[in-house]
Amino acid sequence: MPRSLVTGGAGFLGSHICEYLLKKGHEVICMDNLSTGSIANIEHVHVEQFKFIKHDVTEYIYVDGPIDYVLHFASPASPKDYLQMPIQTLKVGALGTHKALGLAKEKKATFLLASTSEVYGDPLEHPQREDYWGNVNPVGPRGVYDEAKRFAEALTMAYHRYHGVNTKIVRIFNTYGPRMRPKDGRAIPTFIPQALRDEPLTVFGDGSQTRSFCYVDDLIEGIYRLLVSDYHEPVNLGNPHEMTIKEMAEMVIKVTGSKSPIIYKPLPVDDPQIRQPDISLAKQLLDWQPRVNLEEGLTGTIAWFKQRGTTAGAYYE
Ligand code: UDP
Repeated sequence: MPRSLVTGGAGFLGSHICEYLLKKGHEVICMDNLSTGSIANIEHVHVEQFKFIKHDVTEYIYVDGPIDYVLHFASPASPKDYLQMPIQTLKVGALGTHKALGLAKEKKATFLLASTSEVYGDPLEHPQREDYWGNVNPVGPRGVYDEAKRFAEALTMAYHRYHGVNTKIVRIFNTYGPRMRPKDGRAIPTFIPQALRDEPLTVFGDGSQTRSFCYVDDLIEGIYRLLVSDYHEPVNLGNPHEMTIKEMAEMVIKVTGSKSPIIYKPLPVDDPQIRQPDISLAKQLLDWQPRVNLEEGLTGTIAWFKQRGTTAGAYYE
């Protein structure tokens, strides 16, 4: 039975990865310091092949016994979170990636880095291909996340080239689904509770900026295919279906059947104007492409928010 360590395993993506690996027959160690992750995301997992360790991966990681795969997902990931935790964000991308790579080297494990479309910054090429180097402001508020992930990619390639570690890098584009935190400040988990309460949806700027949203199940499938591939350069994973944020707000209103109006708030500093993955590489290499369309994905996500609203008392926590 393969044995895997998932850092950030109690987070949105990490918890979905843990469950996917369990289904594939892995033994899974979930490591998280719970700074943005939550036990609520994993408390329903009751199999003995699953273990949770509370640990900050910027500190030395000690795990007993063999490890076959290290998947490094630990990091604040929403602009609101990394603006509130700028130094922790830089530390987990730099020191945390170093510790996770060190563990993979020691255990002769395959390593996968969760990188991000933010490495492309406010892109001057559209859609973004893996060979585009990006347009990142290192000293802007988003720089703490963008540069941490760029450093993490560089460190991962150095461990691959210099130490021969079997590494993979996934550049994750906007992803949504159950277990996003309603207060993490991102568009979809902000809009859904607003729509469910018939409150105004807060669109930033004039809403003409674009994003391309991928349903979490599609993304996780792609990540697993990359993990077991033999490719070492970065690979984009995301849904190329691009839309404006205003269109997304209108879609949330439609699918929830809400009476909410849309109101406009100031655009955050360095908010990218456009973003869309070119997934030709993933298609060719992994025979992968997203399958869940936006309406289906939103319906599943909204159902989860509604259920959470009744069981946890509020959709807002
Ligand atoms: N956004 C918005 N209203 C909100 C939250 C976000 O209009 O309540 C906008 C945000 O400015 C950005 C887009 O939605 O242009 C996507 O933001 P998100 O935080 O989801 O992801 P990211 O900016 O990291 O792609």
